[in-house]
Amino acid sequence: MKERDLQSAIEADHAHLIHPLHHPSAHTAPRIWVKGKGSIITDMEGTEFIDGLSGLWNVNIGHGRAELARAAQSQMETLAYASNYVGCSNLNAIELAERLAQLTYPSINTFFFASGGGEATESAIKTARFFWKTEGKPDKWKVISRELGYHGVTLAAMSATGISSYWPMFEPRTPGFLHIASPYPYFFNYSFKPGNGAATPGIAAANLLEEAILKEGADSIAAFIAEPVQGAGGVIVPQEDYFPRIREICDQYEVLFIADEVITGFGRTGLWFALDHWGVEPDILNFAKGVTSGYLPLGGIGINDRIRKAIHEADPAKRYMHAYTYSGHPTTCAVALANLDYFEREDVVTRAAETGAYLQSCLKTVERHPQVGETRGLGMLAAVELMEDGDSRKKFDPALKIGEKVQVETAQRGLWSRVREDVYCLAPPLTTSRGEVDRIVDILDQSIAAVFKG
Ligand code: PMP
Repeated sequence: MKERDLQSAIEADHAHLIHPLHHPSAHTAPRIWVKGKGSIITDMEGTEFIDGLSGLWNVNIGHGRAELARAAQSQMETLAYASNYVGCSNLNAIELAERLAQLTYPSINTFFFASGGGEATESAIKTARFFWKTEGKPDKWKVISRELGYHGVTLAAMSATGISSYWPMFEPRTPGFLHIASPYPYFFNYSFKPGNGAATPGIAAANLLEEAILKEGADSIAAFIAEPVQGAGGVIVPQEDYFPRIREICDQYEVLFIADEVITGFGRTGLWFALDHWGVEPDILNFAKGVTSGYLPLGGIGINDRIRKAIHEADPAKRYMHAYTYSGHPTTCAVALANLDYFEREDVVTRAAETGAYLQSCLKTVERHPQVGETRGLGMLAAVELMEDGDSRKKFDPALKIGEKVQVETAQRGLWSRVREDVYCLAPPLTTSRGEVDRIVDILDQSIAAVFKG
């Protein structure tokens, strides 16, 4: 790589790169990242920040863990690549699948690998459709998801994604994707009135799925896809009784339940996988990000034994014609294995639960600002919801760009993260120390005060 100064790097970037969510107005002075160690990242000017979002919710074990680099190097020196198409396999993919079968839900024992979260979503949706065709129910092909859900932005994944700003310039969306409201407790519980058989806001929110299935016809619905905690939508933790009721509805109407654990998997919420908080298992599990802690791109799906059987017992002429060149890449799988070794040796999930509880309790202190509607989260996944008036759930005028202003203030003080509108999101590495958590909360507190002074 050639040596260059910041100015020439920015000029070349402007000349030759299109970024995710690109617009030049948001890229006049891009931050160019050059290194990371633990929870600290450093830009080209040498300024250090706490990595408040673990990159993009993925660097779960923190930066600079040399053993992952060694695993990649060793594999690349031995065998650069091997096809994993049927008839071939490799030892790393085999061992990773075997280990994931141990770590994920008891009913999930078989895996298909992809390169990231969007491909995981595509794979999950295609697998659900495949399954119903093998069951002799080809009309079950539609997918229900939720507003504010994020499942990636390839075309079908984008259609499942329920953050509507991702759609307009790429429409028409793929047909057959429906959205129900998010269970968003901060708003949903507030406006809840018992009735229609729903005793609690969680049941009422889950019953929206039943309503949608009945309206559309259960015979036409292949799957329901949901993140256990909605991440990019603003770190929305559902009510305690939401997912148990969702599971019941899926069972009753023969709808496959796809849990998109691309963010919540691999310890993020203080358990290996997040539906365990509510004693629920999915039929299909989407994972990515934390499986390699972001050191290399890897994602995929886990499937339950019933779906596995359908794939195995299909007529060869109607086989599972789904494939990626990089499915089961030996190097990404080697890095995932080294990542899991690190998790086990350093007891990362227990640490995430402990530090996560500390983070959630410290964050409560910023609720002293009248503009903080609530702080919320689960484990090392948290959010601060900024509101004009929390008592009446009145949001700020979007033109005020309150979230962005808080983000600018936090960056100036050495905390790097993202906002969704006026929700400040946090997902620091699971290995973040208590001292670093104190610093995160302190910076947020000062930044909110700075935005609202006067
Ligand atoms: N699902 C979820 C829950 C995600 O958070 C993301 C990425 N933020 C994706 C899917 C898409 O992953 P990718 O960007 O790797 O395609």
